Amino acid sequence: MDSYDFIVIGGGMMGAPCARYLAETGRSVALVAAPEPEDVQSWTGPFGSHFDAARITRHVAADPDWALASARAIARYADLEARSGQRIFHETGALMAGPTDGPLADWTRGFRQVAAGVPGATMLDTAEVRARLGLALPPGSIASYEATSGGWMDPRAMRQASQALAVQAGATLYTQHARARDDSTVTLADGTRIGADHVIVATGPHAASDGLLPARPALKVWARTIAFAELSEAEGARLAAMPSVIWAPEGWDHDLYMLPPVRYPDGKLYLKIGGQVDSPRIESAADMTAWFRSGGDAAVADRLLAEMRAVLPGLTTVRTMPGPCAVVWSATGYPYIERLSDRVTVLCGGNGASAKCGDEWGRLGAIAATGGRLNGEGYACDFRAVWA
Ligand SMILES: Cc1cc2nc3c(=O)[nH]c(=O)nc-3n(C[C@H](O)[C@H](O)[C@H](O)COP(=O)(O)OP(=O)(O)OC[C@H]3O[C@@H](n4cnc5c(N)ncnc54)[C@H](O)[C@@H]3O)c2cc1C
Repeated sequence: MDSYDFIVIGGGMMGAPCARYLAETGRSVALVAAPEPEDVQSWTGPFGSHFDAARITRHVAADPDWALASARAIARYADLEARSGQRIFHETGALMAGPTDGPLADWTRGFRQVAAGVPGATMLDTAEVRARLGLALPPGSIASYEATSGGWMDPRAMRQASQALAVQAGATLYTQHARARDDSTVTLADGTRIGADHVIVATGPHAASDGLLPARPALKVWARTIAFAELSEAEGARLAAMPSVIWAPEGWDHDLYMLPPVRYPDGKLYLKIGGQVDSPRIESAADMTAWFRSGGDAAVADRLLAEMRAVLPGLTTVRTMPGPCAVVWSATGYPYIERLSDRVTVLCGGNGASAKCGDEWGRLGAIAATGGRLNGEGYACDFRAVWA
């Protein structure tokens, strides 16, 4: 049986960087990373939250700890790009807008406070956003705009970069899923058993139900619908200066997000919108498979697309379609990053916002797994796990 100092299970936005950090500090590491499914209808392995071409990245957040994690992760994109040859960051700018009264007033107050300390972030009102960026936000919105330090990142490129650099530093990559963990022995899908002094479980939306942790973490996994709008090349060129946008539509009690035109692997340009809240819960691997095979909820996608059109006056689309995704909410609002025993560390709970800063959560995961303390890392949060 091959044996390592550490086994990291899950090679997504948090697990792959964690493996990289451990390998780059000279530990022997196995990264057990299930691949992204090529055909969801026949796929029987685990799913993930990062199977996409683009995720919003920004310094501004409603919470200072999330802002700090993002700032640290964003500051490392260039080094990761240079060392891996992957293009991770696309500097289109990022806008975060909300109302100053109503149920989202605290959220708006939170990101305004954070934005005041972000170099390059400027505050704009509804009219200024319309004049400068062409976006029609609800009246009374106030927006922080990061013209250069925000935009979107490519989660597949990030995963590729982190995994490749981990391997370059000596890690062994197993491109299959882990079926079981017994203490610090892990059984892979093909029956291979590998051992380690310590195992890190970073299985994203599966961590709540896959039995790889000693107990069930308090995580809510939601089956979310996103909507895509395919654009002509001309419409894509017209919207080329559009930033990533997070905003609260008029009368809504939660925010939505939208990516600017992004070229997908099929060669076409798409806008993407998401941010549903009233979605079904996923409780098991079987629920997850059924949800991804369903292709998402067309009625939810229609509601999202109506809001996309409201913000982008005159938008013309070639076609639109729904898509499925799964997001994970923790009980604390922060990831769970905790060494639970000599044998196992938990690293999960992305809260719908950890693609951009998964590199920082992975770094904290490596510190925790090696017995280090997180309370000297500058965060107010202790990242302790809560159990169901
Ligand atoms: C539609 C959508 C939009 C989002 N938008 C944004 C955004 O704009 N900005 C942002 O920052 N974040 C965004 N997020 C959130 C972000 O993608 C997640 O927070 C992040 O991916 C969580 O990282 P993770 O490592 O915990 O999980 P994941 O990235 O899902 O990684 C988990 C990995 O574990 C693997 N795995 C699972 N089980 C096993 C097993 N048994 N053995 C081996 N491997 C296993 C999976 O295949 C997967 O690769 C979005 C999420 C969704 C779904």
